[in-house]
Amino acid sequence: MNGFEIAKLRPPTENFSLAILTHFNCPWSKCAFCPSNLFYKLRRFKRRTLEEIKKDIDNTAIINEYIWEKGIISQETLLKSVSEYPMLRECFIHMACWHLYSNATTAFLGGTNPLLYHSDFLEEILIYLRDKFPTITRITSYGRTITASKKNSRYFKQLYESGLDRIHVGMESGSDNVLKFVNKGVTSEKHILGGQKIKDGEISLCTYIMPGLGGRAWTLEHAMETARVINEIEPDFVRLRTLEIFPHTPLYKKWKAGEFTELTEQEVIEEEKILVENIECKTTITSDSAANLLTEIWGMLPKDKKKILRAIDNYLSLNYEEKLKFSLDRRLEAYNNQYGGLSPPIEKKLKRLSKISEDSKNYYEEMKKLIKYIRSRLIP
Ligand code: SF4
Repeated sequence: MNGFEIAKLRPPTENFSLAILTHFNCPWSKCAFCPSNLFYKLRRFKRRTLEEIKKDIDNTAIINEYIWEKGIISQETLLKSVSEYPMLRECFIHMACWHLYSNATTAFLGGTNPLLYHSDFLEEILIYLRDKFPTITRITSYGRTITASKKNSRYFKQLYESGLDRIHVGMESGSDNVLKFVNKGVTSEKHILGGQKIKDGEISLCTYIMPGLGGRAWTLEHAMETARVINEIEPDFVRLRTLEIFPHTPLYKKWKAGEFTELTEQEVIEEEKILVENIECKTTITSDSAANLLTEIWGMLPKDKKKILRAIDNYLSLNYEEKLKFSLDRRLEAYNNQYGGLSPPIEKKLKRLSKISEDSKNYYEEMKKLIKYIRSRLIP
C-alpha cells in the first residue's frame, strides 16, 4: 500500500475534505505578506503529471478500501493500522477525518493555482476522482484571478460540467495601490475579469479579503475599492482574513523600515465597517478566520447588513479598556478552539497579568502584549 500527497494548504471550509495535490508550492510566491515567500528557494513550484495525480487518487481509493475492511474509524483500529504502516500515518488520519467530519462527501484540488492547467487536464482529474469516490458531492479548488482572467469563456463551463463546484480566490484587496504594494501580481481590473469569468462558468466563487492590508495609508481606499470590486463580481462568498504580519516576510521588513503602518484592532474594525457599508451586491460575508476579531461579521448581504453593522458599532462603542478585554477574551477563545486548550506560556502570562492591579499603568500594556503574543500563535 502506498501513500499520496496531501494538499495541506486549504481553506478552512476544506479542512476535512479529501485533498488531492495538483502541483507543489506556489507558482507566484511573491506576495509580500505571505509566509510561503520564506521558503521560496527551498520549496520550488513544480507541476505534477496527470499520471502522478491519478496514481495518488488510486492510492487514496486503496487506503479507503482498507479503512472500510478494518473499521479504521475507531481510534483503536486507527492506531493499530498506523503501527502496521507507520509511513502512511498522515494518509490514514486524513482519510479517517474525511469520513468522520465530511462524511466522505467533499474533495479539494490542492495547489495554490490549479487553474494553470488546461481544462482537459483538470476535467480528467475531476471525472476520475468522482468515479473512484461516488460519495463525493462537492469538489472545490484554489485559483488566482490573474490566471482566470486569461481563460476563454468555455474553460470554466467545462470545469463546471466536469464537476468543479467552487473556486476559492485570495483577492485580498480591490485597491490597485495596495495590490501593487504587496506585490499580488494582479490589478483590480484583472480581479474583476477573472472573477466574472469564473461566475459566468456557473462555478461558485469564494473570495478572501484581507482587512488591514492597506495599513494606515490606504485603509479607506482599501475598503472602498474592495467593495467596488466585490460589487462588480458578485461573488457567492466574501471571507475576511485579517492581516497578520509574519516575521521575516517582505511586509515585515517594510513594517520594520517604517514603510508600512499596521492598523490597530479598532482601525481594522472601522475599515470593515466601511467595507460592509459599501457592499451592495448579493453575497454571503463570513468571518471564520482565527485572525479576525469580530466573528459577528457574518450573514447574507444585503439582508443582514443592519445586524452586522450593529455588531460592529457595539464593539466600537466600548471604551479603550473594554476593547482590550474583549479582544483578549476573543483571542483566548480562538486559541482554545484551534489547539484544544491554552499553552503553558499563555497560562503563565495570564497568571502574571492577574497579579497586576487593574489600576496600574502596566496592566493594559501587558494585556496588549499578551493579545499580540496569542495572535502571533494563531493559524489564520
Ligand atoms: S498567491 Fe497565495 S500562496 Fe502564492 S504567494 Fe500569494 S498569497 Fe502566497
